[in-house]
Order: sequence, then structure tokens, then C-alpha cells
Amino acid sequence: MVSHEEVQAALSARIDGEKAELDDAIVDAHVSGCAVCRAFLDRSLALSESLGVDSDDAMAPPQDLSAAILAGVDNEWRRFARRREIGMAVGRLMLGAMAVVWVLWAVRLILSGGEEPVVASAASVRFGVALALGFTAWRPQQIPGVLLIVGTMFTFTVGFAVRDFVLGMGQFEAASVLVPLLSLVALVWTWVADRGGAVRRAWQLLDARPY
Ligand SMILES: [Zn+2]
Repeated sequence: MVSHEEVQAALSARIDGEKAELDDAIVDAHVSGCAVCRAFLDRSLALSESLGVDSDDAMAPPQDLSAAILAGVDNEWRRFARRREIGMAVGRLMLGAMAVVWVLWAVRLILSGGEEPVVASAASVRFGVALALGFTAWRPQQIPGVLLIVGTMFTFTVGFAVRDFVLGMGQFEAASVLVPLLSLVALVWTWVADRGGAVRRAWQLLDARPY
């Protein structure tokens, strides 16, 4: 004789779309003559129906379902975290490289000579920007403040470059526009890599799609 437990295990397996250990004929014969197992079958079918699954279809047990959802969120999160990590690494490299460029640019100014106080003050500004960029590579949270300074500098240098070009005054130095511009690009890139994800994540939460 088969036990109720064996029959009910076989019924659960059948509802879950898995292969039962007992032969279907034996299970059906037992259920037709056993009120306990028929009640179990009715409960199981009602449960699987309340979960919105047709009893004829294969049905994953609820604990497997939640595990699959968690794995999906986890994968999405890991993919997002890796993308952010790469974006941040590239941004910090660019900021570090631009800091070196500003130092070299300051050194070149000093070596080129010229009026002592003017060169000294211009070179110190360049060293200051190099320091600020190096600082943001280390602490990206500080980017907005530095962005404001470099953005203002860029606006002014472009303004002066245009004026010099229009009036035909002095020599147009490409570096005076390019260096601040590339610094701006590095700052914006790193800021987006650092903070852009938070904005996107908040939007996804509002959208409420787990995956
Ligand atoms: Zn039974």
C-alpha cells in the first residue's frame, strides 16, 4: 500500500510539472478512494490557481520564483555597478591626466619667461586648477564646485580667445581653450558616472519594474 504522504508528494510534483516517483495510475486510484488526499489535491489546485497558474501548466514553486526574481535584481544591480565602476575609473583617469596637463602647462608658462608678477599669478592659477582636478579624482563628490570654477574659466578664456581673434591681437593659443574644455569633459563625465546612476535608480524605483 502507498502512504498518503507518497501520494501527496506525487500530486505536488504533478502540479509543479515535475516527474512524480509514483505511477500516475496508482496515484489516481488512491485519490479516487481517499478523502484526505482528494482534499489535499483540491487545496493544492486552489492554491496554484490563486497564484494565477493554470494547473495543466508547469508551475514553479513560490520559493524558486522569489529566488529567480532576486537573482534577476541581483544581476541587474551587478551589471549597473560594474558599468558605474568602469565609468568612474575612466573619469578619474581623465581627471588625473588633466591635473598633470595643468601642472605641465603652468611649468611651461614659468619656463617661457615674461613679466614676473603676471607669469607668477597665471602659473599659480594653473597649479590651483591642477590641485582641484586631482582632488576631484580622489573625491568625486566635490566635482560640482570645481565644475563651476573650471566652467567659468573656460567661458572667460573662450571670450578672450574670440576677442583676440576678432581684433587680431596677440597669438591664438589653442591650449588656452582646449585644456579647460577637456577638463570640463572629464569633470562632467565623472560626475555623470558618479551621480547619474542614482538618478536612474530612483527613476527605476518609481517605474517599479524589478527586472
Ligand atoms: Zn490518501
